[in-house]
Amino acid sequence: MRIPKQMYDEMLEHARAEAPNECCGLIGGRDGELTTLYRAQNSEGSPLRYNLDPRDQFRIVSEMEESGEELAAIYHSHTHSPAYPSQTDVNLAFYPDALYLIVSLVEGEEPLRGFWIERDSGKIEETGLVVE
Ligand SMILES: [Zn+2]
Repeated sequence: MRIPKQMYDEMLEHARAEAPNECCGLIGGRDGELTTLYRAQNSEGSPLRYNLDPRDQFRIVSEMEESGEELAAIYHSHTHSPAYPSQTDVNLAFYPDALYLIVSLVEGEEPLRGFWIERDSGKIEETGLVVE
């Protein structure tokens, strides 16, 4: 999956701005390309979990529909752990068609990784990301 450099930078910036709490947001896409990043509020306000504020989610999905985008990816940050889905992340992965992007602020860890998550089976499949 290709990630535009500007979007990559924006996710890392958002993660740093919300630290020590987790940040979260949605990415709209067209034809398999990621096109627009939408920041959302983490209604949990927590360093351990995220929950997209439902009003934010509704507003963002409406904006995506208006601009002919679909929900392509969901991102959030891990401020103290690697960029790998936690059990909580799997439990909350309600969108099988969305790519789950995780930012890690931990030094020495890969700063951004992407996964397809099957909530029911708990299957996690990593997909390679190309930032350009
Ligand atoms: Zn997580």
